[in-house]
Amino acid sequence: MVKAVVGANWGDEGKGKITDMLAEHTDIIVRFQGGANAGHTIKNHYGKFSLHTLPSGVFYNHTTNIIGNGVALDISKLIHEIESITSQGVPAPNILVSDRAQIVMSYHILLDQYEEERLGGKSFGSTKSGIAPFYSDKYAKIGFQVSELFDEALLAEKVQRVCELKNAMLEHLYHKPLLEGPQILQELHRYRDMIAPYVADTASFLQQAIKDGKTVLLEGQLGTLRDPDHGIYPMVTSSSTLAGYGAIGAGVPPYEIKQVITVCKAYSSAVGAGEFVTEIFGGEADDLRKRGGDGGEYGATTGRPRRMGWFDCVASKYGCRLQGTTDVAFTVLDVLGYLEEIPVCVGYEIDGAVTTEFPTTAGLKKAKPVYETLPGWKCSITGIRNYGELPQNCRRYIEFIESQIGYPITMVSNGPSREDIIYRHP
Ligand code: GDP
Repeated sequence: MVKAVVGANWGDEGKGKITDMLAEHTDIIVRFQGGANAGHTIKNHYGKFSLHTLPSGVFYNHTTNIIGNGVALDISKLIHEIESITSQGVPAPNILVSDRAQIVMSYHILLDQYEEERLGGKSFGSTKSGIAPFYSDKYAKIGFQVSELFDEALLAEKVQRVCELKNAMLEHLYHKPLLEGPQILQELHRYRDMIAPYVADTASFLQQAIKDGKTVLLEGQLGTLRDPDHGIYPMVTSSSTLAGYGAIGAGVPPYEIKQVITVCKAYSSAVGAGEFVTEIFGGEADDLRKRGGDGGEYGATTGRPRRMGWFDCVASKYGCRLQGTTDVAFTVLDVLGYLEEIPVCVGYEIDGAVTTEFPTTAGLKKAKPVYETLPGWKCSITGIRNYGELPQNCRRYIEFIESQIGYPITMVSNGPSREDIIYRHP
């Protein structure tokens, strides 16, 4: 049985917590896209962790954690992350890295920085982790696949080809130091030695596991609105954030994905640039930001203050639809307990007409939120485990949003820890 945990919005919905929680009853957790440019924050009995590359199942002994072929693999960061969790008392996790995953090179990170510099104020808000140059190279067929690290002749030939191309750009576009073949080759050798113990044909491993009746969880990064096809292009990431891509980025048959758990936060936040119709500013945003998440809404990778907004039913309905949602996990509801009233966006007004359909970016630029205001519950809901024990206005908030987005909210998260969860049975 394969399930996916994915985000409905801009990311930071709390996927890490939901994955860590579900991993208790999961055999294999797979990261299927993205790189070290975003993070999942996880709080459990070992401490608080910010994972960027490792799957969120690494805190259990019984799990196998896979870096799938779809991931942008930063090998130094991966090894560093393994060391950082084991040094905090987590037993050495069981990790497999796909022999088809491709490698983020130091020049990808440099090119990302140079391009941001070049664009100046018109930048795409990149985290400068090399993700866009990495995926560009993957599809331009000049990326390095993990399997290739073990083929010396191929490496030598390819390094030369890459240097020729990159140096043309470095010299004439960016006016920066050029790449040197021997150094790039050395970098690849270092990566080969670091990654060798983990390399496997993970797609075959998964095929056998599925045959043996094991449970597999595909863990997404970011959310629908950052998908390069269906998101707020061009302010998107460079790999698909959709559950459907989980089949490709992990190497499992699409029909094996039986459950898609889409994580939706009880309010909105976004890191970096891009259209954000329900964004709020000033004191109203500060109040929510400092209470949000666990210790405030600041980027897990970048530390940047997140942009804040009210819950957006238009974006979330769309976000859930593109994911193929079977279940919604509604998270971080506990932080809204301070509000007298809570605005919820139920439509967009574009050129005088109200719509509940999420438009393309040009439409989003013109969209104004249409709000309905719901009464707050003005108390703490932390520690509650039964749905019926939630304050009436809190249930009303959940049920109102559920009816607007049209997908069942089967889990409500009311705190950062594994135990802070309320299951709702239809
Ligand atoms: P991800 O990338 O989707 O995993 O999201 P983040 O790592 O940004 O997680 C969001 C933040 O919210 C993290 O600091 C979590 O510990 C925290 N968090 C997750 N669920 C809840 C919840 O239900 N309540 C509270 N207060 N914090 C939560």
